[in-house]
Amino acid sequence: LPSRSPFLWSAVLALALPTLVHAQADPTSRSWNQPVEPYRIAGNLYYVGASDIASYLITAPQGNILLDGGFAETAPLIEANVQKLGFKLEDVKILLSTHAHFDHAGGLAELKKKTGASLYAGAADADLLARGGKGDFAFGDRSLFPPVQVDHPVHDGDKVSLGGTTLVAHATPGHTRGCTSWSLQVEEGGKRYDVVIVGSTTINPGVHLAGKPSYPGIAEDYAKTFQRLKSLPCDIFLAAHASMFNGLEKAARLKQGGGGNPFVDPEGYKNFLARSEKTYGEQLAKEKTARPTRENGR
Ligand SMILES: [Zn+2]
Repeated sequence: LPSRSPFLWSAVLALALPTLVHAQADPTSRSWNQPVEPYRIAGNLYYVGASDIASYLITAPQGNILLDGGFAETAPLIEANVQKLGFKLEDVKILLSTHAHFDHAGGLAELKKKTGASLYAGAADADLLARGGKGDFAFGDRSLFPPVQVDHPVHDGDKVSLGGTTLVAHATPGHTRGCTSWSLQVEEGGKRYDVVIVGSTTINPGVHLAGKPSYPGIAEDYAKTFQRLKSLPCDIFLAAHASMFNGLEKAARLKQGGGGNPFVDPEGYKNFLARSEKTYGEQLAKEKTARPTRENGR
């Protein structure tokens, strides 16, 4: 840009300032938010997110469902991806959330404004979404996002249907209190596939499970979450981060073609859960031995 043009510079600043408020301050966040080609996963289910921050579109003639809104900065990428696939953002009637963190809920406010869609999210995350991430048990006030109002707080087992597709909410608390995983079925080539979209099983740095837990009951919540996720039938394994299910690599294989759908990966799902549960178990054991109680020591 020509440095002599004050008009242009003020325009640039005006564009930059709103994003600074909810900036992706760190290089990690930015690397998660690179534009990537959208693609059809199977049936009426599409990937419309960024390089790592996932967002899914489920289409029907009656209207579309959009799951997760990425960072505030991801919303325009999602809109562009929806259009690239030949759909309209305005046709989104339902917005779904996995959890109230800035990298998945940051774009929801803008997407809701642009579509007028109703937002469904875990009931225990509704307040955190309305506060724009303020007072998060793990992040405090450090990871804020544009606040967004939940229209339909969902509980374990609640169903959301549109145009023949039904998504089931599974309460998978721990990562956030209202963290929700979603399951659905898609049809492809005359076969039905069970799809699971995992909210998150990650234990963020600084979070304590035992001793002085980061929230009362967090260890039990994670334990319930693993039981629940392990009980779900899963052919197609997806999650809030593409890295959790090797999304970039699978998308490249899908594009190459050559038989089979790489997203059909029941083993990958089981392995992911086994790894996550092992990490959880190890942290819990370590925290318990690091804080001896009267029964087992001094
Ligand atoms: Zn998160």
